[in-house]
Amino acid sequence: VTVTDLVKESFKRIKEVDDKVGAFLLLNEENAMAQAKKLDEQLSEGKADPSEILFGLPVGIKDNMMTLGMKTTAASQILDNFEPVYNATAVEKLIDANTITVGKLNMDEFAMGSSNENSSYKLCRNPWDLSRVPGGSSGGSAAAVASGQVPFTLGSDTGGSIREPAAFCGVVGLKPTYGRVSRYGLIAFASSLDQIGPITRTVEDNAYVMQKIAGHDHRDSTSVDKPVPDYLKALTGDIKGMKIGVPKEFLAAGVEDGVKARIKEALAKLEELGATCEEVSLPHSKYALPAYYILSSSEASANLARFDGIRYGVRKEENELLQTYKKTRSEGFGDEVKRRIMLGTFALSSGYYDAYYTKAQKVRTLVKEDFEDLFLQYDVLIGPTTPTVPFKIGENVEDPLTMYVNDILTNLMNLAGVPAISVPCGQADGLPVGLQIIGKHFDEETVYKVAHAFE
Ligand code: GLN
Repeated sequence: VTVTDLVKESFKRIKEVDDKVGAFLLLNEENAMAQAKKLDEQLSEGKADPSEILFGLPVGIKDNMMTLGMKTTAASQILDNFEPVYNATAVEKLIDANTITVGKLNMDEFAMGSSNENSSYKLCRNPWDLSRVPGGSSGGSAAAVASGQVPFTLGSDTGGSIREPAAFCGVVGLKPTYGRVSRYGLIAFASSLDQIGPITRTVEDNAYVMQKIAGHDHRDSTSVDKPVPDYLKALTGDIKGMKIGVPKEFLAAGVEDGVKARIKEALAKLEELGATCEEVSLPHSKYALPAYYILSSSEASANLARFDGIRYGVRKEENELLQTYKKTRSEGFGDEVKRRIMLGTFALSSGYYDAYYTKAQKVRTLVKEDFEDLFLQYDVLIGPTTPTVPFKIGENVEDPLTMYVNDILTNLMNLAGVPAISVPCGQADGLPVGLQIIGKHFDEETVYKVAHAFE
C-alpha cells in the first residue's frame, strides 16, 4: 500500500460514517492528500524510511491543540475564526514522525464536560449506539477511533477526558504522568491538571504513539527532563508476581452492577496471569470530586481571561472597550464555560479564597499522599474507569452535578498527577466497559505492561 492509499481509505471511511457519528469538526483533505503524495515520492526516491513506526498513518487531533494554519476552535464560538500560527509540540512531534493530520476532532467546549454535549458546533454520538454519548471531553477523539475513521488520535485529560470517552467507546486511552508530554500549544483549561495523551485501538498502538509524543520541551516549563523509556519493551505479557491494589472506594455504591461484574472478572484474569490483587483504600477519595471542580474551575477562570475579543478569535465590536469584552464573552462562551468561570472566580475571590481554593489545594495534597502510600506496596492500582456504561444523549444535560459525578473515578489521578490508562473490559448491556490501570509517577511502562497482558 502507498501512503496515498492509507489516507484515501481514512477519508472514505470518514465520509461513510461521520455524518452519523459527528467526530470531526474540520477535515484537512486537500493538504493531507498533498502530504501523502509527497511521502510517496520520498519513498520511491529512497529518501524516507517506511519502517518508521507511524510512517504515513492518518491521525486526528482534538480541536484544543494548535495546528498551524488549520482552524482550532476548542469547539467554542469564541474561536470560530482562529487559525494558529504554530503547532502544539505533540502535534509537531507527530508531523516529525511523518503522520498525516486528516482533521480536527469534536469535543466539549474548552474541554469542559463528560459527554461531548457541550460542543458548540455539533453533536457527537457513540458508534456503539448512536442514541448514546461518546463521553467527553475528547468524545470525537474516541469515537473516530472506535468507528475506524483513523487508527489513532490525540486527546487531552484534565479530569478524565481521555479515559472516560475511551471507556465509553471501547478503545484504549492513556493519561500520561503530569509533565511527561508537553502542553505547549494545548489550549489551557486547568494548567496544573491538563495532559495530552493517545487514544488507540490497542495498547501496543498506544505505546507507539506515546513513544513519539513524550519528552521534555523547553517551551513547557512543567514538562519534565527525564529520559523517555522504550515503552514497547514493557509489552512482555509477563505480570507474574505483580502486586495490584484494588481501592474499595472504586467499587462502592454508585458503580453499576454490570460494570462491577466485568471488573471482578478482570481481577480474576489478572490473578490467573500470576498477579496478586488485594483490596486497599484511598481514604481521601471522597473529597476529590469537589476539590477537582474547585481547582479546575479556578484555573479555568484565569486561563479563559485571555479570550476577550481583542487578542484572539471572534470580536463583537461595541463603542466602548468594556462593552466589547462583555458582548464578545457573553455571546462567545457557552453555558457550561460560563458556569465554570463563575465558580472559579467565586472560589478565588478574597473572602472565599481560603475557604475554597486553599482548602481544595490541601485536599489535593492528601489525595496525592494516599496514592504515594499505596505505591510503596503496590505496582499498580485497578478499578473501573466510569461508574456506568455510556448514557443516553440528553439524559444528564439538565443536571450539571450528575454530569460532574461521571468523573468520580478519574479526576483523582489528575489531582495526584499519576498516569492512568483505560482499556476495554467486555460489555454490560451490550455497551463497552473500561478497566482503569493506575501507575506511579513516570511509570507508564508498568501501566502498559499490565494493560497489554490483560488485553
Ligand atoms: N469532565 C471533566 C470536566 O468537565 C473533565 C474534563 C477534562 O478532563 N477535560 O471538567
